[in-house]
Amino acid sequence: MDRRLNLKEAAGRTEPWDVVVIGGGATGAGCALDAASRGFSVLLLEQQDFGKGTSSRSTKLIHGGVRYLRQGNISLVRESLRERGLLLKNAPHVVHKGAFVIPCYSIWEKSFYVFGMKLYDLLAGKHSIGSSRALGRAEVVEKLPNIHYDNLKGGVIYFDAQFDDARLLIDILRTAETHGGVLLNYCRVTSLMKNRNGMIDGVEFEDLEADEKFTVRAKTVINATGIFSPSVQEMSDPGSSPRITFSQGVHLVLDRRFLLGDSAIMIPKTSDGRVLFCIPWKGRVLIGTTDTPVGLPTLEPQALESEIDFILDNAVKYLSIKPTRGDIKSVFAGIRPLIMKGPAAKTSSLSRGHELLVDASGLVTITGGKWTTYRKMAEDAVDKAAAVAGLDRRNSVTASLPIEQPANSEDDTALDSNFAITRGEIVRAIRDEMARTVEDVLARRTRILFLDADAAIRLAPRVAEIMAKELGRGDVWIKAQVAEFEVVAAGYAPGFYSKGNH
Ligand SMILES: Cc1cc2nc3c(=O)[nH]c(=O)nc-3n(C[C@H](O)[C@H](O)[C@H](O)COP(=O)(O)OP(=O)(O)OC[C@H]3O[C@@H](n4cnc5c(N)ncnc54)[C@H](O)[C@@H]3O)c2cc1C
Repeated sequence: MDRRLNLKEAAGRTEPWDVVVIGGGATGAGCALDAASRGFSVLLLEQQDFGKGTSSRSTKLIHGGVRYLRQGNISLVRESLRERGLLLKNAPHVVHKGAFVIPCYSIWEKSFYVFGMKLYDLLAGKHSIGSSRALGRAEVVEKLPNIHYDNLKGGVIYFDAQFDDARLLIDILRTAETHGGVLLNYCRVTSLMKNRNGMIDGVEFEDLEADEKFTVRAKTVINATGIFSPSVQEMSDPGSSPRITFSQGVHLVLDRRFLLGDSAIMIPKTSDGRVLFCIPWKGRVLIGTTDTPVGLPTLEPQALESEIDFILDNAVKYLSIKPTRGDIKSVFAGIRPLIMKGPAAKTSSLSRGHELLVDASGLVTITGGKWTTYRKMAEDAVDKAAAVAGLDRRNSVTASLPIEQPANSEDDTALDSNFAITRGEIVRAIRDEMARTVEDVLARRTRILFLDADAAIRLAPRVAEIMAKELGRGDVWIKAQVAEFEVVAAGYAPGFYSKGNH
């Protein structure tokens, strides 16, 4: 993916694109791949880096959603389990099966979850990836050596899938490019153009690196901007009332010693009635998440002190080595776009299903949903957009389309003893994956910021120097990049919270 060439192609094209996609998260990337692989010409515009929004901040689960089963949302669970099966087949390099154990502290609880997980198995049908079963106390301790075992009565094991969200996103985009899609990061859509009949026929966007504006023509425009979708709907239909509401979720990342073994823990009922996961992830443990209503969407949300306390308070009940604030390696927050259907008491009770809207000017907005269902969301959005624009009828092919693996980077010396980041990997991230800033490399092309914020801050000057050489930048750029990264990374660093900065 070469940004300079892509910008030239976007700016130089006089013909309308079949599809312009706004937003470079999971949903937009999925739409670009779906449209490009059907043979449509497609341009995707992302205002910041790919995945800067919610799509790099998930719990990293490709799952049916045990919680949605409890809420009785059977169709969402069934659809998600089907998509899980497709992702395991189409992207095995980045999505893998994982074992999840529900520890039970009463016999009644154990019977309840054995029954519930059998239903989950049943809903997976031919996409099942392993049967759930009851575990005795000793088996639970064998799978989760650090489980709190006073009064433990046994548990239930079931199987779901885990992934690296930002990595899958980049690989979906690279696959879209192989099929002819043109992708641009750091390009913000600032307005929508309309023809004499009031129908959208193009977009105006700004290249944020060069402060330059461009217009492109489009037969149809898909708004896949997640929590920002109301602002794009507003460009099309001023005064339109937003249909989504926002809820923040926080994760803590800890050293692996807090969760030994290969299995994850699924805590079925936290003090606020949600589920909480403790998951082995890239040599660390990921614990989350929360569900806190927030007023305004933002690209760099920050955890509340109360959310960190909530996660620690619930996790310590299940772990024999009790984590404290001092053990946190990184804290990250993301915001969910949730569809509002009338007044709901709690954001956690709102559906994680997706919704397609077409306004009077033909703007196709796709909102809500889950990472797990990104492919199906994209298929539905492109079907709708093609119908609105009167494009040729072509069926989606993504259900059986393999997602490309990252190209090999030149092997050379690791820059850090704890993380396998190399000069070659940074160069590859720039040349093949459009990384433009130190944050792009440390937060999303590698996940070091999410795994250990202090280590990422230490690495930033070396990464900036290597990037500057590759991008033809000088000392001023290096200094500015390090300073900018430090501001963002401070929000992930546990010290930021313990010092009461928030
Ligand atoms: C805490 C948390 C945990 C989650 N865990 C899971 C999980 O484990 N499994 C799962 O399946 N799902 C999970 N989800 C849900 C999943 O992460 C989201 O549904 C998904 O990432 C949303 O993707 P998106 O592309 O719609 O939005 P985003 O990723 O936010 O992408 C929208 C993009 O649009 C861009 N944009 C906005 N305005 C403009 C503009 N004017 N011009 C150009 N670009 C623009 C933004 O910069 C952004 O990058 C979780 C969500 C949260 C918050």
